[in-house]
Amino acid sequence: MQSTGADIIKVVTTARSITDVIHVFQVLGRSQAPTIALAMGQQGLISRLLTPKFGGFLTFGSMASGRESAPGQPTIEELQDIYRLPRVGRETEVFGIIGQLVGYSKSPLIHNRFFQEIGYDGLYVPFLVHNFKVFFGAFHPLNFTGFSISIPYKEVALECCDEVESFAKAIGAVNTVVRRRSDGKFIGYNTDCEAAVGAIEDGLGGVNDGVSPLFNKLVVVIGAGGAAKAIAFGAKQRGAHPLIANRHYDRAQKLAEAVGGTAITLDQLYELQPSPGSVLANTTPIGMFPNENETPMPKSVLKHYSLVFDVVYTPKVTRLLTEAEELGLCVVSGFEMFIRQAIEQFSLFVAKPVPKQQLREVMLNVM
Ligand code: NAP
Repeated sequence: MQSTGADIIKVVTTARSITDVIHVFQVLGRSQAPTIALAMGQQGLISRLLTPKFGGFLTFGSMASGRESAPGQPTIEELQDIYRLPRVGRETEVFGIIGQLVGYSKSPLIHNRFFQEIGYDGLYVPFLVHNFKVFFGAFHPLNFTGFSISIPYKEVALECCDEVESFAKAIGAVNTVVRRRSDGKFIGYNTDCEAAVGAIEDGLGGVNDGVSPLFNKLVVVIGAGGAAKAIAFGAKQRGAHPLIANRHYDRAQKLAEAVGGTAITLDQLYELQPSPGSVLANTTPIGMFPNENETPMPKSVLKHYSLVFDVVYTPKVTRLLTEAEELGLCVVSGFEMFIRQAIEQFSLFVAKPVPKQQLREVMLNVM
């Protein structure tokens, strides 16, 4: 096409997998004439968003949602307001969220606003990935700087990192991967743990003289998945006694064994009369939108706890928390954890301290 003497070349294909987009970037990299190259479809979205990074001549945006002229086209509003494409250039560092349901994630909105807030030349995009290892291997040469890791890749991401921070290793899951600027190695972190446990500690009045308010307390964790692991390990590290209750008892046992806690069944949980000052942490999705009427614990047994934490953050106040509040208990929302883990992750992304209060206000404004 170039040899015909065309003023502008346009190559459009359809991505069946996100790794197909690499070919589009290669076309842009090799072309010596102004070139429009992109891949249609959901899997091709990043070819449209990263056009200025790879020197593409232009990218297309629809006038409104539902008025796309090709599959996978974002709106002009999204390109300008969320991804701030006019500011993106070849030097812009690329970050993003890797997952299977990233289309609904608020993370691009949040992290791109954070970049804007601190004046950092970064762009954060959704990576819709169906095979983590294949994606990670294929995109390695592109030198993208950092990734948020969402369900179901927190364990496999740990295996793919060059180094994993010790606490994330103990938990067995990473939710943040950052390329170290000095040697290009990928380092894995877990910001969920500190975010949740720090929020619970603050709910209990904060750390006093270096002693955590969780010290010697019983922390009852409902669930045994990724969030449960982070909270159980964090609680144990603060000197608390984790008690794990899960639908599949074998998973509760496995986690209890790994963390040095105790496992119980859900039936035992409903009968439990914990010692005064105990903490209850729901780490299951029960009560999450659109099932807001559900709760993981009957109200009648909540009264035994002094603080109730819910990992769910949509809605910000779940039925579990509403009922705990009605009983006069202290409550901590998963939204507080969400804010803290995002800010901590952003600080790792940009490899420097960030204005936490300012970023917290940004999050409160956009969510
Ligand atoms: P996960 O690894 O899939 O674990 C989910 C856990 O919930 C499992 O133990 C599962 O039990 C249990 N569970 C699921 N549905 C259940 C039901 N209907 N009844 C009883 N138990 C049920 O998920 P995850 O990564 O831990 O995430 C859990 C929740 O935390 C999600 O809603 C996620 O959005 C939220 N989250 C919030 C934040 C935040 O910042 N606030 C951060 C991370 C995660 P089985 O083992 O028996 O299947």
